[in-house]
Amino acid sequence: MKVTLLAGGVGGAKMAEGFDGLAGVELSVIGNIADDAAFHGLWVSPDIDTLTYSLAGQIDRAQGWGVADESHRALSVLNELGVETWMTLGDRDFGLHIYRSAALAQGQSRSEVAAHVAKTFGVQSEILLPTDDVVQTRVRTAEGWLSFQEYFVREQCRPEVLELAYSGIEAAKPTEAALTAIAEADLIVLAPSNPLVSITPILEVQGIREAVLAARAKVAAVSPLIAGKVVKGPADRMMKALGLRVDALGVAEYYGDLLGHMVIDTLDAALKPQIMALGRGCTVLQTLMTERAEKQALAASILGAMA
Ligand code: GDP
Repeated sequence: MKVTLLAGGVGGAKMAEGFDGLAGVELSVIGNIADDAAFHGLWVSPDIDTLTYSLAGQIDRAQGWGVADESHRALSVLNELGVETWMTLGDRDFGLHIYRSAALAQGQSRSEVAAHVAKTFGVQSEILLPTDDVVQTRVRTAEGWLSFQEYFVREQCRPEVLELAYSGIEAAKPTEAALTAIAEADLIVLAPSNPLVSITPILEVQGIREAVLAARAKVAAVSPLIAGKVVKGPADRMMKALGLRVDALGVAEYYGDLLGHMVIDTLDAALKPQIMALGRGCTVLQTLMTERAEKQALAASILGAMA
């Protein structure tokens, strides 16, 4: 069974780990590239790296991103040299960014780089990019427009979000591999990722939303909000700022007719009738994932519900 997962970083990677290696499942993950940015002359792709490190078993489990047992000696040199170092990049992580930047400079595409890194690190599932072009989420605050990482890491999501934009998205061409993974999927899952800054910048790449709508597979989304709250990150505050309802029903409304089915947490069981009234299927499951067994149990239950 071919499962295609659209995923951001931390929430997306947990769901990817759930499907990865499940008996009978061939997983393709289309990751978010709109958090990408240049640091110290290197191209950093945080969500793709979180997916890769997670599926390679190298992730720092406590923080959900970065490499386990990481050191930060390169960053300390940059700091000594008077460079801003609010973006935490570990030494092993730097190695990957150096490789990526050099390969891009030699003319490789971003997806070729991602595929080579994943293969080298022993990732079994396919990690695909929605586009090989540059798309960058921008966040308007009272202080003006910030890059996503300035908002997320430097400002730690403190400023109120007034508007979101995805620069470069109109011109971004979808990758053939992403379109094929969507068209050939038996099941498409929108991971419990930030709908606004992880899933939307994938869907808004030319042709991706249309491909999902045209796909023969059923489309299910897992709510990143449990009892109206995020597990982590600014999705709830962003949804509120943009006038959306801040709970699993709001997520279902936001995805609209793209969605056939919504997976919500047991704590949100009361929302099921309202989600079904939107014309969507709805399954209530334990969706908080900490241990690998919980990730796999959720993935297996989703497969069961969608069979
Ligand atoms: P980011 O790019 O690293 O911010 O990661 P994502 O966009 O993939 O994930 C962020 C979202 O994942 C947040 O809205 C969290 O609420 C959600 N999330 C994280 N862990 C879990 C989990 O175990 N279960 C569910 N349902 N959502 C989660």
